[in-house]
Amino acid sequence: MFKKILIANRGEIALRVQRACRDLGIKNVVVHSEADREAKYVKLADESVCIGPAASSASYLNIPAIISAAEVTDAEAIHPGYGFLAESADFAERVEKSGFVFIGPRPETIRMMGDKVNARQAMQKAGVPCVPGSEGPLPDEPEEILAIARGIGYPIIIKAVGGGGGRGMRAVHTEAALKNAVSLTRAEADAAFGNPALYLEKFLENPRHIEVQVLADEHRNAIYLGERDCSMQRRHQKIMEEAPAPDLSPRQRARIGERCVEACRRIGYRGAGTFEFLYADGEFHFIEMNTRVQVEHPVTEMITGIDIVEQQIRVAAGEKLSHRQREVELRGHAIECRINAEDPFSFTPSPGRITTWHPPGGPGIRVDSHVYQGYSVPPYYDSLIGKIVAYGETREHAIRRMRIALSEMAVEGIMTNIPLHQELLLDNRVIKGGVGIHYLEQKLALQKKREEIR
Ligand code: ADP
Repeated sequence: MFKKILIANRGEIALRVQRACRDLGIKNVVVHSEADREAKYVKLADESVCIGPAASSASYLNIPAIISAAEVTDAEAIHPGYGFLAESADFAERVEKSGFVFIGPRPETIRMMGDKVNARQAMQKAGVPCVPGSEGPLPDEPEEILAIARGIGYPIIIKAVGGGGGRGMRAVHTEAALKNAVSLTRAEADAAFGNPALYLEKFLENPRHIEVQVLADEHRNAIYLGERDCSMQRRHQKIMEEAPAPDLSPRQRARIGERCVEACRRIGYRGAGTFEFLYADGEFHFIEMNTRVQVEHPVTEMITGIDIVEQQIRVAAGEKLSHRQREVELRGHAIECRINAEDPFSFTPSPGRITTWHPPGGPGIRVDSHVYQGYSVPPYYDSLIGKIVAYGETREHAIRRMRIALSEMAVEGIMTNIPLHQELLLDNRVIKGGVGIHYLEQKLALQKKREEIR
């Protein structure tokens, strides 16, 4: 096992990885920007290194500075967390070339999954169901594009091969709109990702977002840890997640899980990963693979009892997975609410000093947060200040505990989205379960209209 790991991230995930290191008896080095000097995990770290000013481009995305920090502290491995450099194949490559272990998949795997057409093709070969779409990147000839779109059938969605973060996508409902939409998206893709290549997919009108968590080691073992439903989103950002997905049968779960595991074996996947699907009419459609730990991983940990970050570290050290598939048992239900420093209804970020911080507690409640009373939420990064996870014997039980947890929680000095979560947990459709990915935006739009009428 490693003696020392460098954590190349910030916020709650830096603290999460630090806790996993402690659990395994591994020393941790935290790198941080000038703006994050006062963060909890920096104070708790065995060693910390300031790698640059507040702007992420100069700190958390500064590859030479991170590698130098690993060199001067004698760290053996680097955990990238999520976001920042976690899905940069170049970073993973530089880490390994510099003689450190990258806690994640091989750089080639990250590169393949970062190219959406390659990822789709690899999944199709492995028998993972994909959204119907174009075979490869679109040709230049407009007539050929029209023919491909006709073959798929409208509505369709145009996507950038190198896209990510919910950008570089455009839905098209009629043939008349296609040509123009293709040139617009091509120009945007070229500007945003330096890659003008596009492809087409069938546009699914009201799917759910369901994703499968996998773990794989270097000894050809791969397992799935069930799924999460992350349909509660705004602008493609998830805000509330749960496991298992409401109304999914054990048979459906096993079928899609086995396909994902088979795909991991074929591509020689290593570490933790997530297969993201759009789910409609009882069918799964692969959209992308995330080659890293995800924000919402705790809901899976709660229902399986498996520590995903610990497994990432063990696998990176060359160990075998600690569990076989038949030992993975899903028990109960877990829900996560992402707590953001923002106005709960206008969503404007609300950084600043936290003057009161009372996190909830009690049976089945887990709080993952790096903030504390007196801490100032910096304005430079995303607004996630913590996650509340509620576990219950049943979904109803988990919802009940989450309502209590949110009612106990007191945060002052900044605004948070706690009121939005409270409202959602009283919404009949949410209580019933299984809403689509547009549900939240439609609900918010309706509320806005009602206010305007008043
Ligand atoms: P990114 O890598 O930018 O996050 P994804 O391929 O994961 O892109 O898609 C992001 C979101 O876009 C999905 O969660 C979904 O809301 C929407 N989306 C993507 N593909 C489709 C599709 N074929 N039909 C309908 N919506 C889609």
